[in-house]
Amino acid sequence: MEDFATPGMTKRDLLTLIGRTAGATAMYMAMASLDQAAASTFKGPVKLEGDAKGASVLILGAGVAGLVAALELSKAGYKVQVLEYNNRVGGRSWTLKGGDTYTELGGATQKCEFSEGNYINPGPWRIPHTHYGVMHYCHELGVALEPFQQNNFGAYLHSTKAFGGKPQRYRTIHSDFQGYVGELLGKAVKQNALSDAVTSEDAAILLEALRGWGALDKDMRYVKGRASADRRGWDKDPGGGLTAEPIPSEPLSLSTVLKSGLWRAIGGNVSLDHQQAIFQPVGGMENVAKGFERKVGNLVRLNSKVTKIHQDEKGVTVSYDDTKTGEHLMAQADWCVCTLPLTILSQIEINVSPTLDAAIHAVPYLPGLKVGLEFKRRFWEQDEFIYGGITSTDLPISQISYPSYKYGSRGPGVLLGAYSNGSYAYEFTTLPPEERVARALEWGSQIHPQYKSEFMNGIAVGWHRVPWTQGCFGIWTEESRATHYKNLCQLDGRIVLAGEHASFIGGWQEGGITSSIDAITRLHQRVQAG
Ligand SMILES: Cc1cc2nc3c(=O)[nH]c(=O)nc-3n(C[C@H](O)[C@H](O)[C@H](O)COP(=O)(O)OP(=O)(O)OC[C@H]3O[C@@H](n4cnc5c(N)ncnc54)[C@H](O)[C@@H]3O)c2cc1C
Repeated sequence: MEDFATPGMTKRDLLTLIGRTAGATAMYMAMASLDQAAASTFKGPVKLEGDAKGASVLILGAGVAGLVAALELSKAGYKVQVLEYNNRVGGRSWTLKGGDTYTELGGATQKCEFSEGNYINPGPWRIPHTHYGVMHYCHELGVALEPFQQNNFGAYLHSTKAFGGKPQRYRTIHSDFQGYVGELLGKAVKQNALSDAVTSEDAAILLEALRGWGALDKDMRYVKGRASADRRGWDKDPGGGLTAEPIPSEPLSLSTVLKSGLWRAIGGNVSLDHQQAIFQPVGGMENVAKGFERKVGNLVRLNSKVTKIHQDEKGVTVSYDDTKTGEHLMAQADWCVCTLPLTILSQIEINVSPTLDAAIHAVPYLPGLKVGLEFKRRFWEQDEFIYGGITSTDLPISQISYPSYKYGSRGPGVLLGAYSNGSYAYEFTTLPPEERVARALEWGSQIHPQYKSEFMNGIAVGWHRVPWTQGCFGIWTEESRATHYKNLCQLDGRIVLAGEHASFIGGWQEGGITSSIDAITRLHQRVQAG
């Protein structure tokens, strides 16, 4: 699931962090048991072997799940038609650029004023290398990828409750936290406090490892000196000639680091979904959808709002409105792959089994908000040497992410000025868009004082007001999954559901893709079986 920094900290956070620091494998296994880890089951190109027997399939929704279904089913010989509400393909795989307009529920319309070449992805923005399905389709469809800067040691960690609200470089907190944990562990080993867990032979190896890992001195202390400064930064940087000699910086105290709470944002990049290498499509996430469009765009009917889905023993009939002309229309096919988000599907008349109906109504969606801000210049690069990456904060904006493209360019730049969830996202979303932008600007200026004088324009997407999704993505609990997940994914008569909500990789495009492949494979087997 996509990550969000949540303001505030708990004792559990510290344990979690130590768990991460101590072992990514242990953390991964713990996360897997909570359905949070996101290794993909994608196993290479889809092969639907055998005859499609002249069958037709209606696909509802042209997000990545619908587009994969359209591509693979049409390759296998099915007659395919896709109905899509928007006037573009891609669904949540969406990019806002200068000249775009967006109207949310309630009618507020925003025009994106960004300069040429600048953009914001209101939904998906990064593609982990472990998302083999997305990577496969990007390669197959000629979608150019570039590195997404997930973890930047030069970006900030910020808390309103620490350091008088002054942001700290990630590298200083990371280095000091790791250094002191290394020193403490080293002390415990030396005092034989871990003798029941570590043999004396291993203890010697562990001490050697901790010295390197924590940047400790020869006495196993984390102190001011070359080793620590090489990680956390220098008071005076090394240079050349007579002024070359560097001056190491003084580490913060352990207590200061712990009380700051800033440690809680360390280690967010070790999960499978966030490890480097991680990518973004050149020019914005919409380019993933555009790759599919080049192949199957002719099969998609845009501006088509599905209003009713009816099946009987002969086939499926879908009622829809042409949102441009207002016409009420109908489409028919032998089978239906429905990828509409459950927030939408649960409001549409559909005759399915009671168990599928219950599943459709069982999954709430996460609230979320993203704000894109354009500034006259890239002051984060020019003044603060931050090239891409993410600053975390306990302010309601939760994070600021710097663009991983056009580094060093002159002229206006766009950054992600807020990406929040939970109650803050609801609160933000209730405000008019211009107020959301104004607040993101106000809060962000606590981290970057340049904000106010450099600001040009902004755009804010509150996901519960996105008419065609009404939320970010589905949230399963262990209980709801146990009760409803299999029912949600079963072929129900002539209808099968797909989409990120029908996956264990919720909140990622990979979930939409793998669920779609699974659904159409079962559908194809049913057709083969006659
Ligand atoms: C804020 C945010 C951040 C995210 N970050 C990432 C990320 O970094 N990386 C990543 O891989 N994923 C990310 N995701 C998740 C990713 O966007 C989704 O998992 C994926 O796009 C879902 O694809 P889908 O095809 O299942 O659904 P959608 O893309 O929602 O497609 C459903 C389609 O149905 C259409 N539709 C809706 N109602 C109707 C109707 N009545 N009639 C006809 N059509 C209709 C919609 O217009 C849409 O095109 C993020 C999502 C959000 C919201």
